[in-house]
Amino acid sequence: MTDRSVDHLSRRYGYKSYQDYLNGDWWRRFSDSVRDSECYCCGGRCDLVVHHLTYNTLCREREEDVVTVCGGCHEEIHLLIKDGVRALEAPSVHRDFHVAVANSLFPEDE
Ligand SMILES: [Zn+2]
Ligand SMILES: [Zn+2]
Repeated sequence: MTDRSVDHLSRRYGYKSYQDYLNGDWWRRFSDSVRDSECYCCGGRCDLVVHHLTYNTLCREREEDVVTVCGGCHEEIHLLIKDGVRALEAPSVHRDFHVAVANSLFPEDE
């Protein structure tokens, strides 16, 4: 989904833009209620944001439509999506990457 179509979708629900939607009461309350205390990908605890797995449920998101990630992973996830990884899979693809790096730094056998 391009930035433009998310804006379009937000306007359909009476918001001026997607940014306007993110500043709105519903999203603020929803994202505060589902935000985890750590990043789904790397376990980091700073700069946590609630990322959309799908925009299909905009304005009526459920907990399973979003995932909590840190700012750094969030950027990486959006780069993956730009590279053609499906939005739904990008967070787990990025998480696997972190797991692989951690395992190579701390090999289990030896
Ligand atoms: Zn992270
Ligand atoms: Zn995002």
